[in-house]
Amino acid sequence: MSNDVAERGTQSFVDDDFDPSVWDEINPYVDELLNRKISCSKCIEGIIRDASELSEHISEKGALLYIAMTCDTENEKKRSSFLDFVENIRPKLSEFSDSLNRRLVEHEAVGNLPARYDLMIRSMKNDIDIFRKENIPLGVEQTRLVTESQTINGAMTVEFDGNEYTLPEMRRYLESNDRSIREGAWKAVVNRRMQDEERLSEIFDELVSLRHKIAINAGFETYTDYMFRAMERFDYSKEDCLEFHDAIEAVCVPLMREINSERVGSLELGSLKPWDVNEKTGVGPDLHGRAPLRPFENVNEMVEKLSTLFHNMSNDLGEKFDMLVEMDTLDLDTRKGKAPGGYQYYLQKSRVPFIFMNAAGLQGDLETMIHEAGHAFHSIYCSHLELIGERGYPIEFAEVASMSMELMTQDQWGEFYDADDADRARIGHLEGVIFLLPWIATIDSFQHWIYSNPEHTREERASVWNSIRDKFGSKMDWDEYSIFRDVSWQQQGHLFGVPFYYVEYGIAQLGALQLWRTQRKDQQKALTDYSNAMRLGNTKTLPELFTAADIKLGFGEQHLSSLIQEVRTAMSELS
Ligand SMILES: [Zn+2]
Repeated sequence: MSNDVAERGTQSFVDDDFDPSVWDEINPYVDELLNRKISCSKCIEGIIRDASELSEHISEKGALLYIAMTCDTENEKKRSSFLDFVENIRPKLSEFSDSLNRRLVEHEAVGNLPARYDLMIRSMKNDIDIFRKENIPLGVEQTRLVTESQTINGAMTVEFDGNEYTLPEMRRYLESNDRSIREGAWKAVVNRRMQDEERLSEIFDELVSLRHKIAINAGFETYTDYMFRAMERFDYSKEDCLEFHDAIEAVCVPLMREINSERVGSLELGSLKPWDVNEKTGVGPDLHGRAPLRPFENVNEMVEKLSTLFHNMSNDLGEKFDMLVEMDTLDLDTRKGKAPGGYQYYLQKSRVPFIFMNAAGLQGDLETMIHEAGHAFHSIYCSHLELIGERGYPIEFAEVASMSMELMTQDQWGEFYDADDADRARIGHLEGVIFLLPWIATIDSFQHWIYSNPEHTREERASVWNSIRDKFGSKMDWDEYSIFRDVSWQQQGHLFGVPFYYVEYGIAQLGALQLWRTQRKDQQKALTDYSNAMRLGNTKTLPELFTAADIKLGFGEQHLSSLIQEVRTAMSELS
């Protein structure tokens, strides 16, 4: 740390060799920021700038510890380093942020700050409103429970066809054209899940009661109300979400069921069983019995072809993608000991995006990689912004960056396929858009009910879950597996780890569909709209970001219906 604050100029506030995983090293910076004299709005700006620099270091350390753990989940030391950071550094930091927020917001000079700081100050005031010191240990307890649920899920393997497989690896069998293989694979996975059902239900019970307590401590009636504030949902309400669910029920659910009926008819299935369709993605057996799509043999091939694909779209995107490759911050191959799923994590100090995924050569993997590349483009577009608070963007808009990239690259999928297979991949992806929205309504409705009724019993939970599934789900025959249906919500990790984070995907999908609709008329305009909006980072409100991309933030039936009509038109042009 530099002691001579007045002389600092462009010199950095934080020493380069400082270790942000040790509180004793963070503490002097924190003390200085909390005690530095404030005499004018310039002093407030200086504190915000230095606090931002400190946050960059700490955020990057947390990211690197998380990345190390997820790339090597069997390594005890990496897991304990990450947990140590979560349990010992983050709670002290949130106390520090609260004290600093109060110092700045309560100072009379705050009114003289330039407009640039408006959203940052709004966010600080919001944090102050909901912060309670007594919630810090509850938050740590919450993280411990969530980590346990992730460990339980990560450890699940099944014996199948003479081998041991992780659950992500079982996808291959679940997507088989042979119905008996699908059935066997599905039952193997479900029987394995049922072994841990009881502990996961207990963890969830504990999480619900902890979360309700956090909300009450913070002065809210329900955890739903608390989370709408904590997630800074200033621009839409609970009622908007409910309207969105209704619109999805009216527009997408009948279409989804129509697609299911066509499959049942063409494949002569008799009735739809849970192993005949993935209800979240719409993935099911091929109507013509063709083998699953194989867009690439290995990760290098995927990366090379994606570079060509993005260069074909624009030099700007092509160069950004090549930057990712050159910076060597991609970990894409699936391997034993790697956490499931995919994510993009922006390293705030180095200003470099890191992409993690488990590619096994499937079409879904290609879509994931394009999705995460969209997040990485967003991060790179924002890297010119000075403050960490300006570079972070609302989640709803982050997913516009990634989901629109999936749609807007569709024209270019010929890089991976011949003409027939490219169309097949496009149709599958567009069907996926129709299937995902009802699933989003399912998960979001369920959470609204859970946290409005925190005292519920497990029986009530099962019965509400099933009635929500009846409303938004596929009509299918569960046979003796209705006992699994009761707890099948356990498969959706967001319910444990990131409560209420789900409707964002739906809000973003509507944004993404609009950008894609623009692209279908005018490719250049769509890419310009995309970059114009993405480079704004967090410096505008959510509706303003939508406006910057020349799209509309909406929840109603008419809006949804016109976009889904476009999807149907596009589907009819293919096949
Ligand atoms: Zn995403």
